[in-house]
Amino acid sequence: MSTPSTTAYVLRGVRPYGTDPVDVVLADGVVAAIGAPGTVEVPGGATEIPASGQVLLPGLVDLHTHLREPGREDAETVFSGTRAAAAGGFTAVHAMANTTPTQDTAGVVEQVYRLGQEAGWVDVHPVGAVTVGLGGERLAELGAMADSAARVRVFSDDGKCVHDPVLMRRALEYVKAFDGIVAQHAQEPRLTEGAQMNEGIVSAQIGLTGWPAVAEESIIARDVLLAEHVGSRLHVCHLSTAGSVEIIRWAKGRGINVTAEVTPHHLVLTDELARDYDPVFKVNPPLRTAKDVEAVREGLADGTIDIVATDHAPHPVEDKDCEWASAAFGMTGLETALSVVQQTMVDTGRMTWADVARVLSENPARIGRIDGGQGRAIAVGEPANLTLVDPDATRAIDGRSQVTASDNTPFAGMELPGRVVATFLRGRATVLDGAVVESTGTGSVTLEGAAR
Ligand SMILES: [Zn+2]
Repeated sequence: MSTPSTTAYVLRGVRPYGTDPVDVVLADGVVAAIGAPGTVEVPGGATEIPASGQVLLPGLVDLHTHLREPGREDAETVFSGTRAAAAGGFTAVHAMANTTPTQDTAGVVEQVYRLGQEAGWVDVHPVGAVTVGLGGERLAELGAMADSAARVRVFSDDGKCVHDPVLMRRALEYVKAFDGIVAQHAQEPRLTEGAQMNEGIVSAQIGLTGWPAVAEESIIARDVLLAEHVGSRLHVCHLSTAGSVEIIRWAKGRGINVTAEVTPHHLVLTDELARDYDPVFKVNPPLRTAKDVEAVREGLADGTIDIVATDHAPHPVEDKDCEWASAAFGMTGLETALSVVQQTMVDTGRMTWADVARVLSENPARIGRIDGGQGRAIAVGEPANLTLVDPDATRAIDGRSQVTASDNTPFAGMELPGRVVATFLRGRATVLDGAVVESTGTGSVTLEGAAR
């Protein structure tokens, strides 16, 4: 699927990063020309895409996706998850390590990497586990995963916290050899035993065990100090509290090499949604308070938080459609991330589309140290990894009509702004007219997004 497309496209009247309209030509897998409308040379046979008013962004890059394969193909597969990613405007994703078997050896990460290549929707970069089986006791074969065909640079026990400070220190030291990074799921395990939701007024009122902000913040505080001590890179997954933003701000001010992510759902949803005990809102880390939502928006706008990452966590119906206490943690997010960022950050005037490109493409590509021309500027000669967005469209979100194999979107029944019109992976359209493009090898047919 990595063969360059022979198809050329001309995007008419498109606005790169939301700026003035231009025509953009894609040919031979790269951006071939950019010029004032009507002035560019268009190759014969190029497909015309009227894109007046639409915004062109570098292809989105997710640093935090759960593709569930191997092991939980009932929730998602590499194929279905990366197809959903393309539908959401992504051209690369990092596949988290908590699969079964765990992505803790060169063999397993190479398997996931190859499945991604075969699927061909986006570039798949497997994340390697920090500890064997996510057990938190022995370091996994970090070097072997780094040297493998999958070229792993991001290591995480996500879903679990590397809570042993000695192991965390060793991991931070080890990954320096190949410019890797440890992505920490910051959750102090003893402080969150049996926790079901954010600890606060709502948890007290509805009688669910609370998850205190300090359980997240204490690990982040420890880890930024460890990263400083050993001189390594640290990435903080899905931070969710005002205090966590403060700690990252302090650490960056001190010159510590730390980056941080926030999820779309933590940019907009609060723990008030737990009042009806609907497990679609059960997630790890939990939805927090309106004050925390405001703090993460502010942190994202001022650059304290580097990226938005989806934490796309698909679950089959039987794992979510049950009582709160026994339901799985997690929500889908690949197909709604860009809309949530538009709604919370762009439409509110807090960020420009260039900022969106920074937090959803350039920074995650840089943090993940990925190649393949991801997260690059929209410029002539660059690989055509691109996302075309109609910011004026609105969408009614419905779990069943999404491309992901799972239905657990917290935005079901809501209207969100913006729609991904097209996604290009090295010049080949994976999404056109808002629907995923099925490549047959002999041509292509377009299926509706609803088809799965
Ligand atoms: Zn996590």
